[in-house]
Amino acid sequence: MGKVIAIANQKGGVGKTTTAVNLSASLAAVNKRVLLIDLDPQSNASMGCGVEDVSGNSIRQVLLQEKSIDSVLHHLSFGFSLAPADSSLTGLHIKLTKFDNQEQLLKKSLSAIMHKYDFIFIDCPPTLSALTLNALVAADSVLIPVQCEYYALEGLAGLLSTIDQCRHTVNNDLQIEGLLRTMYDGRNKLSLDVSRQLQQYFPNQIYNTVIPRNVRLAEAPSHGKPAKQYDKTSQGAQAYLALAMELIRKQNTSNHLAHQTGESLCLEKTMV
Ligand code: ATP
Ligand code: MG
Repeated sequence: MGKVIAIANQKGGVGKTTTAVNLSASLAAVNKRVLLIDLDPQSNASMGCGVEDVSGNSIRQVLLQEKSIDSVLHHLSFGFSLAPADSSLTGLHIKLTKFDNQEQLLKKSLSAIMHKYDFIFIDCPPTLSALTLNALVAADSVLIPVQCEYYALEGLAGLLSTIDQCRHTVNNDLQIEGLLRTMYDGRNKLSLDVSRQLQQYFPNQIYNTVIPRNVRLAEAPSHGKPAKQYDKTSQGAQAYLALAMELIRKQNTSNHLAHQTGESLCLEKTMV
């Protein structure tokens, strides 16, 4: 079963979409089966993958239960699949009110295809909207990109409290996958300070991998490609590859621990 990871931070421009596209491409490069869902009306992830003009065949129709998710997928040459968005997602929340359990719609639509993927990423909009709520309900965990700049921590408390509220209401099992430092510039004292603060406050949740500020990451979307396909030797592409490996290692460790816990539970039951 695929692990569903929402990439979220209600602060705008922190690297959510850049992370969604480049992490998908990096995991695909090491033969993981990856689906990227663009859940943002800005549709930057779709454009960054070279997919435009999808009217009538986007995640909007899936959420409205007019189409199956399978039928709107683009199987990209970069090795992963994309469920695209377009600007018609704007205002969708009004249409969603006609559904009971409107926050469950994405989760429902994913159930039929979960087994086909190792990782399913959801690129969230920079709001805590009905769309983001659908992502947090469908997700096993949340990956939070944090820009290494002033005000980085501002808003993080809001997001963490929203995740906590979700845990107590609509998704008891929601985990924090990790906090990712983005747009890091080691020459900049502010970057260093913010990075240190994040390490201090979230020692167990922060990724060792840091994403540097790198012009190739900013250029790649205008060519409709992940950085790996645009310039695979760039620091940005290499950093996202390192992040993919860290994610896989973390996943393997937690599976191993879960397996061990399962084994010791069985053992305990046998002993009682
Ligand atoms: P939004 O909240 O609007 O959805 P976002 O959080 O998805 O934004 P991105 O779109 O990924 O953020 O990034 C914002 C801008 O910064 C984009 O122009 C992107 O190309 C650029 N960018 C992202 N990460 C980096 C980086 N590591 N180095 C240089 N530029 C970056
Ligand atoms: Mg974005």
